[in-house]
Amino acid sequence: MAIRTATAYREGLRDGRRVVYQGKQVDDVTAFGEFTTAIAHSGLAYEIAERHPELAIADDGDGPYTAFYKVPRTAEDIVARGRLIETVSRMGAGTIVLKEVGSDALFALLRALSGQGHDNAVEFYRHCCANDVALAVAQTDVKGDRSLPPHRQADPDLYVRVVDEDADSITVSGAKVHTSFSANADELIVLPTRAMGHDDADWAVSFAIPMDTPGLTLYVSPYLHGEPNGFEHPISSRHKLLESLTVFDNVRVPKARVFLNRQPELAGPLALAFVDYHRFTAVNYKLPVLDLLVGAAIEMAQANGIASAGHVKTKLTELITYAETVRGFADLAALRSISGGNDVQLPDPLAVNMAKYHFAHGFHAATATLIDLAGGLVATGPGGDDWADPQTRRVLAKYFAAAAPAEERLRLIHLIGDICTGQWGGYQSVLATHAEGSLEAEKLQISRAFDPTRARAAVAQVLREAATSDQRDAVGV
Ligand SMILES: Cc1cc2nc3c(=O)[nH]c(=O)nc-3n(C[C@H](O)[C@H](O)[C@H](O)COP(=O)(O)OP(=O)(O)OC[C@H]3O[C@@H](n4cnc5c(N)ncnc54)[C@H](O)[C@@H]3O)c2cc1C
Repeated sequence: MAIRTATAYREGLRDGRRVVYQGKQVDDVTAFGEFTTAIAHSGLAYEIAERHPELAIADDGDGPYTAFYKVPRTAEDIVARGRLIETVSRMGAGTIVLKEVGSDALFALLRALSGQGHDNAVEFYRHCCANDVALAVAQTDVKGDRSLPPHRQADPDLYVRVVDEDADSITVSGAKVHTSFSANADELIVLPTRAMGHDDADWAVSFAIPMDTPGLTLYVSPYLHGEPNGFEHPISSRHKLLESLTVFDNVRVPKARVFLNRQPELAGPLALAFVDYHRFTAVNYKLPVLDLLVGAAIEMAQANGIASAGHVKTKLTELITYAETVRGFADLAALRSISGGNDVQLPDPLAVNMAKYHFAHGFHAATATLIDLAGGLVATGPGGDDWADPQTRRVLAKYFAAAAPAEERLRLIHLIGDICTGQWGGYQSVLATHAEGSLEAEKLQISRAFDPTRARAAVAQVLREAATSDQRDAVGV
C-alpha cells in the first residue's frame, strides 16, 4: 500500500507517452507550459492526503491507501465518499480533480463482472491501491453515426474493438474521445460506452493499460489554452483539465489486464455500472460550483446595491432552491444506496440521476441569473493589466465603485464571468450538459430506475374505493 505525494505523482508522468498538442509532439508533459495548470490541479488529488488525512486516507488493516479507492460496502461508505469528492473539488474551486473517475470505473469493474474478468479487475484494483495510481477513464467512443451500432458503422474503428488475439494478449484499435486526465494520468481504464448485441462482440471490450503503451496516442484539446491572469480569470487561471482524442493503433493488451473480451451481454451492464458511480461523483464535485453560484449572486447583489430589491430577492431564492435541491438529491443518493452486487454498495440510481439531471437542466438558467445580477461589465470590464497600472487604476477605482469598492466589485464580476461566460464558462456550460452523460441519458436512467408500483397502487386504491362507494350509492346503503 502506498500514499504518494503530489511531487511523486508529477514525476511519475515522465515516460514515453505519445501526446500531440496543436499538431506537435509533447516529449515531456511535466515540462510543457500549457499543461502546468492542469497537472498542478490534478496534484490536489494527492495533496488532500496531507491536508485532510481523516477523509483521504483509508486503511483496512494492510496499511494506508487512498480513500478514493476504498470500495464502498455500506451507505456510510457512500456518504464518506461524497464528502471526500466534495472536499477535493472545493480545493479545486469546483473543478473535478483526478482520482474520482478512475475509482468510479474500478468499482464498476468489481461490481459488474464475474469469472476471469472479475479476477483480473481485482488484481488491477490491488495494483492501483498499492501504487496510488492516477487513472483516466476512456468510455466514450467517437461513435460515428449515432443511429448505428458499432458493427454497422462505415469505419469499424469508430468504436474501440478487438482486432487480434493470441494466448497472452488481445490487440485493439479504434478511438475514444473527451478523455479527461489522459495526458496527466498514469494508466487508462477502457470501458464500453453502450449496450451491444451479438454482432458487436468485437467491440465489447474493457481493459487497462499504462499511458506509455505502444500504439496509444493522445491528441489533447487546446480548449482554454493561453495564460489567463488571476484578476480576469480567478478560477481558470489556477484550475484546468486536459481532454484528449485517444487513439488506439494496434495496441497490445496483456490478457491479465483484460476485463471484458468479446462478451457483448456484459457491455451494457458494465457501462451502466460505471455511470451510476460517475454521476454520484458528478453531483458531489459540482456542489462547490453551486456554492460559488449562490455566494457570488449574494455578494454581487450587495456590491451593486440591489440586495433589497424584490426581483433580486426572488432570483436569489430561486438560485438557493436550485442549489439545495441538487445537494438534497446528492445526500439522498447516498442515504438510499443499495447493494450493487459482489458486495459493492451503489448510490441509489434514481436519486443520483435526478440529482445530475436537475443540476444540468437548471445550470444555464442559474448562470443567466448571475449574469443578470452582475451587469454588462462581465463582457466589457477592465482587465488585470489595467488594474495593475497605477494611473489607469485610479480611473477605474473612481468610476467602478458602487455599494462596494471598485476592486472588490470588479473581482466579483470577473469571478462570475469565469464561471458563466468566456472560455471557462463555455467549458462549464458544455460540461453541465454532456459530461457524465447527456440529459437524455439521465432521463433514460430515471425512467428505468423508477419503480411505479407505489404510484400505480395509489391509483388502483382510489379507483377501487370510488367504485365501492358507487356500488353502495347504487344499492342505497
Ligand atoms: C468536459 C467533458 C469531459 C468528459 N470526460 C470524459 C472522460 O473522462 N471519459 C469519457 O469516456 N467521456 C468523457 N466525456 C464524454 C461525455 O460522457 C459525453 O460527452 C456524453 O456522453 C455525450 O456524448 P457525445 O459528446 O458523444 O455527444 P452525443 O452522444 O453525440 O450527443 C449529442 C446529442 O445526440 C443525442 N444522441 C446521441 N446518440 C443518440 C441516439 N442513438 N439516438 C438519439 N439521440 C442521440 C444526445 O442525446 C445529444 O442530444 C466528457 C465530456 C465532456 C464535455
